[in-house]
Amino acid sequence: LYVEHPLGQGQSVPLNRDQAHYLFGVMRRSVGDLVALFNGKDGEWQADITEAGKRGGVLAVKTQSKALQMPPDLWLIFAPIKKARTDFIVEKAAEMGARRICPVQTDFTNADRIRQDRLQAHAVEAAEQCGGTFVPEVCELQKLSRVLEEWPEDRQLMFCDEALVGAAKTLRMAGGEKWAILIGPEGGFSQAERARLGDAAYAHSVSLGPRILRADTAAVAALTVWQQALGD
Ligand code: SAM
Repeated sequence: LYVEHPLGQGQSVPLNRDQAHYLFGVMRRSVGDLVALFNGKDGEWQADITEAGKRGGVLAVKTQSKALQMPPDLWLIFAPIKKARTDFIVEKAAEMGARRICPVQTDFTNADRIRQDRLQAHAVEAAEQCGGTFVPEVCELQKLSRVLEEWPEDRQLMFCDEALVGAAKTLRMAGGEKWAILIGPEGGFSQAERARLGDAAYAHSVSLGPRILRADTAAVAALTVWQQALGD
């Protein structure tokens, strides 16, 4: 169960109404049962249920069962698309171990707002369901141009460019580096964006194969390619 409270031996963790409903109503746990807790920072801890009610409850933290496992330093930067497909991208990126998930407005992005809190909740659920101890941060929607202006010198970018469909895959990756993946919207990237990224030493244009993939498929494919080469 994900909680925001700090976790450590002897901590007493209050549950809100939603958490109580999930734990006692859906999962049918009751006082005396052990529950695994994580907060994205302190690893996983076993806790005893000491109070259980409809509107809340209390857990007593006992012992650590997993240390915090940080995923490799990978960001997924993507143009948000339709709601359900954007949710899918965030969920899959969290499952695949991205450290940060950044929706961006590109020249051809139609979405001009996102619900960052909803997307963050999807990232929490995804981490929860795959037994992770870390929750990636979902950023607020920003302009791609702004993200590129502030690009950190020590991070490489895997620029997934549909214009390279079918081209040989030329990405050479070295372990231990910081990376980001960039996925465009339904309409792809503009020539101006392509030119800008073509000039950037940190950007490596890649093809994801012989067909143009939907943006959500492309995100999962790129995460898989990256993980195959560098992930753990
Ligand atoms: N119209 C489809 C849709 O509705 O999702 C296709 C969108 S495709 C243009 C979206 C993004 O996926 C591209 O901007 C690119 O980042 C990535 N992509 C898709 N196929 C690709 C490929 N074969 N090679 C590299 N990137 C690809």
